[in-house]
Amino acid sequence: MALPSLPRRPSQTKIVATLGPATHGRDKIEALVKAGVDVFRLNMAHGSFAEHDARVRWIRQIEQDLKTPLGILIDLGGPKIRLGELKDGALECQLGMQVTFVLGETAQQVTDLPVSYPEIVAALREGDRVVLADGTVTLQVIDKSENRATCVVTQPGIVRSRQGINLPGVRLPLAAITKADREALDWALQRDIDFVGLSFVRTPDDIRQLRQLISNVHNPPQIVAKIEKPEALDCLDEILDLADAVMVARGDLGVEIDIAEVAIVQKRILAAARKFRKPAIVATQMLESMQRSRIPTRAEVSDVTNAILDGADACMLSGETAVGNYPVESVTMMHRIALATESVSDPPVRPHTAISISANPTGITEASVWHAGLIAQEVGAKMMIILTRSGQTALTIAKHRFRVPTIGVSESPQILRRMCLYWGIIPLAGAPLQDSQALLRFATEWGKREGLVASGDRVVFVYGTGLVSSAHNTVSVFVAD
Ligand code: PGA
Ligand code: MN
Repeated sequence: MALPSLPRRPSQTKIVATLGPATHGRDKIEALVKAGVDVFRLNMAHGSFAEHDARVRWIRQIEQDLKTPLGILIDLGGPKIRLGELKDGALECQLGMQVTFVLGETAQQVTDLPVSYPEIVAALREGDRVVLADGTVTLQVIDKSENRATCVVTQPGIVRSRQGINLPGVRLPLAAITKADREALDWALQRDIDFVGLSFVRTPDDIRQLRQLISNVHNPPQIVAKIEKPEALDCLDEILDLADAVMVARGDLGVEIDIAEVAIVQKRILAAARKFRKPAIVATQMLESMQRSRIPTRAEVSDVTNAILDGADACMLSGETAVGNYPVESVTMMHRIALATESVSDPPVRPHTAISISANPTGITEASVWHAGLIAQEVGAKMMIILTRSGQTALTIAKHRFRVPTIGVSESPQILRRMCLYWGIIPLAGAPLQDSQALLRFATEWGKREGLVASGDRVVFVYGTGLVSSAHNTVSVFVAD
């Protein structure tokens, strides 16, 4: 059988790229894979189902052609409030100027800001702060009547039609999963997708609701909780316990909480994700200036590095790959920063025992993979091979952050794709699993071709024996032929 081949030496940190008009086309997506993308994000807030359909089709074709698993993340907008159509498409809000929120889709007056949710206008109170245009424009409510809220501009700037509205600190009576989300979810569940992201998660119940909605499909997608509301920070542990993965959604987070606290909150979310053994994505503005420039700012390079050192499993590109001028260059740059960072990271320190999964059988997995990693280090192994049914063994070792290249094999294509989000795990498709000799030969051959191992090198293999029924792991060390 032909061996799959990775586009380039993979970084241990995974790369998530958002698709959009700048990357709409099979060849464009393939170029992103070759530059190092592991997971593609389809943002349901933009684009038509027909466009998203084409994307899913292209990704699955490329996956087949390159024989490399690729994850697809469907991102649901959640209760994000947006402006309707402004009278002139855009409005320059000057300091001290008055503007009015009105109910509806389109503005009658130049200074009208239309919103289609009656709940929003109803929830506003005199003195409330309203933030527009991703935090650039701030308003304060000065007068409120039944269907109108008049505001004064306290921080000036330009506002455009369809931009988001944030009401920091206002508890909105909006459903966690909107009608548009349900439609997008129905669409997504009929396709071959791996992750579903929920925006503006506020409570653990939001995750439970989504779990319920996907529970009756075969191979339901993994739930990614997007943390971008202060309410979610109040019950972070519970949310992490229930979700399958987490995203530090810094775009809205930086508007909903004090922007000065974003980096500290990022560290807190990543530490919690590690504690709960859940993969974590850091998102938004990572290489923002590369939308218009081939070279990022020093601060952006530093941001990607620090996100990795903070414990991110994956870094995400948004506008850079969706609408930017340099999508491939952005991925290449992120990949280069990841490699540079990984080459100097500290040796692994065992994270404290996971809270939610300390019970057997996972406790056995925890202990065996930690020691497998130590054995690999001690014998100078060049590669580890993890055979995993549910992906849990691979995820656990990912959280330990051993620097030995680690191959994940599983009989399920869905599990291989989940590993696209796990730090340091290279999912290997097409491995023969019935016979461990054949599996080791296949993985070692592959490792040789990729330049990871050579004859005489030591390789560590982690697997279950099948001798007894409960979960267990066995560690062997062998020397490559
Ligand atoms: P969005 O989420 O791009 O869907 O808004 C990410 C973020 O808010 O950072
Ligand atoms: Mn967001």
